[in-house]
Amino acid sequence: MTAELDIVRSVAELRARVKYWRDQGLTIALVPTMGALHQGHLSLVTKALEHADRVVASVFVNPTQFGPNEDFSRYPRQEERDAALLEGAGCHLLFAPTVTEMYPDGFATTVTVAGVADGLCGTVRPGHFAGVATVVTKLLLQALPDVAVFGEKDWQQLAVIRRFARDLDIPVGIVGAPTLREADGLALSSRNAYMTPEERAIAPWLKRGLDGVADGLRAGASAADLCPKAIDGLLKAGFASVDYLEVRDAETLAPVDKLDRPVRILVAARLGKTRLIDNIGVVPASR
Ligand code: AMP
Repeated sequence: MTAELDIVRSVAELRARVKYWRDQGLTIALVPTMGALHQGHLSLVTKALEHADRVVASVFVNPTQFGPNEDFSRYPRQEERDAALLEGAGCHLLFAPTVTEMYPDGFATTVTVAGVADGLCGTVRPGHFAGVATVVTKLLLQALPDVAVFGEKDWQQLAVIRRFARDLDIPVGIVGAPTLREADGLALSSRNAYMTPEERAIAPWLKRGLDGVADGLRAGASAADLCPKAIDGLLKAGFASVDYLEVRDAETLAPVDKLDRPVRILVAARLGKTRLIDNIGVVPASR
């Protein structure tokens, strides 16, 4: 077993550690998270280790990406457990800043992204992607890693991050990693812990709904026909409401009706008090 994972809480300490590694010619990867880690997060650390010599994970429950009626205060916080999991996964450093370290008095800057941040979660959670883009911009500039790794589980978030990193000339490679799932198809998520056993039994229908739309698209049906039926199926399965279930261009997130290019099917739905999101990709059969 390696020595206990080091935890730093200030940007100055983070930069000093990164500089120390850089001076030895080592490359660095960053894995931003909000903690309450699960195997999905740890798979990002594994991916990061494929890209760089040293891996920094951040754990920061970012208040600016939560709406006023969202779960910021009850979001699970378990730093000791997170640190042990990160250490076991081969992570080299945990950056766990306080809210005042990230947003000191007088903080007044927001990064907003047009286009890919509009619609889907951008409509249902106003201000969410501005919060994400601002905090991820800060994390990228604080650590200045060679690469940063993000999950495809949050496909729209990944598209937003790729967009602003390119637009702002942030010299960090953005790497996407596939979604890790439970055996029954449910995507791993820190929010899965909110569910009652009854809700947990219903939750896999989310992925089944996506798979159904994917099969329909492959068979030549249109999104306009498939999506309302899939939404109906989720409501019948026990979901309280469906924020959206849509087929989009995998890159631009523009609405798509037929499988005439690589697409992403994205869904957000509520089970009791828990909001779950998921997405899968479908590509046209090669002719
Ligand atoms: P979060 O802590 O939920 O903000 O997520 C931190 C990172 O982990 C994001 O890049 C997520 O996309 C990624 N992530 C969350 N769940 C999964 C999963 N089931 N599989 C792979 N990556 C994930």
